[in-house]
Amino acid sequence: MTSRRGLLIILSSPSGAGKSTLSRRLLDWDNSLSFSVSATTRAPRPGEENGIHYHFLNEETFKQHVTNSEMLEHAFVFGNFYGSPMGPVKEAIDEGRDVVFDIDWQGAQQIVNSALGAHTLTIFLLPPSIAELRRRLISRGQDSDDVISKRMQKSWDEISHWGSYDYVLVNDDLDKTFERLKNIVTATRLRRLQQPNLTDHVRSLQTEFTEIE
Ligand code: ADP
Ligand code: 5GP
Repeated sequence: MTSRRGLLIILSSPSGAGKSTLSRRLLDWDNSLSFSVSATTRAPRPGEENGIHYHFLNEETFKQHVTNSEMLEHAFVFGNFYGSPMGPVKEAIDEGRDVVFDIDWQGAQQIVNSALGAHTLTIFLLPPSIAELRRRLISRGQDSDDVISKRMQKSWDEISHWGSYDYVLVNDDLDKTFERLKNIVTATRLRRLQQPNLTDHVRSLQTEFTEIE
């Protein structure tokens, strides 16, 4: 058995609050972390690569994966299907490696309620203001005005689920938020359930204890 169970680190937020930026930073900080590359039926944005940012699938193939129970969770977001493939996640956590998810509240809820629920860490990112959220979506420069206004309209729906997450961070100063995120991950790795070898260690302490008595 590995010395540690992998964690499922789930980041959610309204679009533009900073999930991708903070996930990238987490992966750069600790290269044992892996990113759960989602499948989606949406079209790639400029610069997005198949298999790296997303697995871009047509609707029929996506639904086939769902029917075959190959998705850990899936949801319909902004008019497209999104889902987290199960295989790579199972493999990573069985080997004691943590997996980072950038998914919406529906996906987070499904994973928390799944058999892997005990090993999840859920974090919600709030923007400092709605005006700043809009500014970030515009400055990212990846979406048309139409898509930006659709995402802004949906942002309250996502924000309304903040109360069901383990941790909530207001992503104002990026460096400060990242420091907090690292602290949360570091502490959660020490949760009793994440350390399966503790039972053996306590048993050996008990043996030693009885021997010296
Ligand atoms: P999401 O993945 O949640 O949609 P992104 O990570 O793509 O959001 O962030 C949206 C934009 O906001 C990006 O251009 C990113 O560089 C910027 N951004 C993220 N966090 C901050 C922050 N704390 N301060 C200023 N800009 C930020
Ligand atoms: P985007 O199109 O901006 O990449 O993502 C749109 C929204 O879909 C974001 O809130 C993102 O977190 C969410 N999302 C991305 N992948 C998944 C996934 O696999 N499952 C779920 N439930 N949501 C996802």
